[in-house]
Amino acid sequence: MKKLAAGNWKMNGSAAALAEVQALLAAHPDPACEMLLCPPATLLAQMNWAARGSVLKLGGQDCHTAASGAHTGDISADMLKEAGATYVILGHSERRADHGESDALVLAKAQAAIATGLVAVVCLGETEAQRDAGETLAVIGAQLDGSVPRDASAAQLVIAYEPVWAIGTGRTPTIAQIAEVHNFLRARLTAHIGAEAANTRLLYGGSVKPSNAAEIFAVADVDGALVGGASLKAPDFGAIVSALA
Ligand code: PEP
Repeated sequence: MKKLAAGNWKMNGSAAALAEVQALLAAHPDPACEMLLCPPATLLAQMNWAARGSVLKLGGQDCHTAASGAHTGDISADMLKEAGATYVILGHSERRADHGESDALVLAKAQAAIATGLVAVVCLGETEAQRDAGETLAVIGAQLDGSVPRDASAAQLVIAYEPVWAIGTGRTPTIAQIAEVHNFLRARLTAHIGAEAANTRLLYGGSVKPSNAAEIFAVADVDGALVGGASLKAPDFGAIVSALA
C-alpha cells in the first residue's frame, strides 16, 4: 500500500501561501508516498491550478451530507470535487467539538463523500480525560463503529487516529500507545470491512513534526500521518514526506 502524508491547513492560508505548494513540489516532485494537502475551501481551486500536472492530491476539510440545497455556509462533496479535491477530511475533533458533529453525522458525510467519488478521511481520537480514565480503546472503537461506512473499500477510506490532547499541543502519545491504538483499529476495521482493512491506510495525527516523524512511521500499522501545523511550511511538510519514503 502507498503511504499517505496528509496536510490539514485548517482555517489558515491565503493566496500568498500557495508559494509553499510550489516549494513543496519543487523539492518533492515524485515522493515515494502519496502527498495530500487540504486547504480552506476558498483556496482549493487556486491550489489545484498551482499543483496542476503534479502528484499532489487535494482535499476538503468537511462536506455536507447533501449534494446541494438550502444549507447556508456549507459545501458539498460534489463542490469539493469540482474544485479539484479527491479527498475530504471528516469528523476532525475540531468539527466534532466546535460543531457538535456526532458519529452518525460523520458516517452520513462519509457515505456522501464516497458516493461522490472522494476518499473519506475519517478522524477518531480520545480526549485527555478519556485516556486518563482508561477509556481510549472503548472511545475509539465506538467512534469507528459509528462513523465508518461498513461497505467502504480500502481505496475509498482512510482512518486518522488523532488523540485530541495531542493536536496542536506539541505532545504525542508514546510509541507503545500509538502502536496499541493502530493495532486495535486494524482489527476492529477488519471486523467491519473484512480483508479491505489490511490495505486501508491508518494515519497517526497529533503534533507530527520533522523531529518525530521517522519514529512514528516505524510503528506497525501506521501508514502515514495527518499533519496540522507542520503542513503549513514546505520544508517541514517535505521533511515529513521524506520520512515516509
Ligand atoms: C490536525 O489538526 O489534524 C493535527 C494533527 O494538528 P497538529 O499536527 O498541528 O497537531
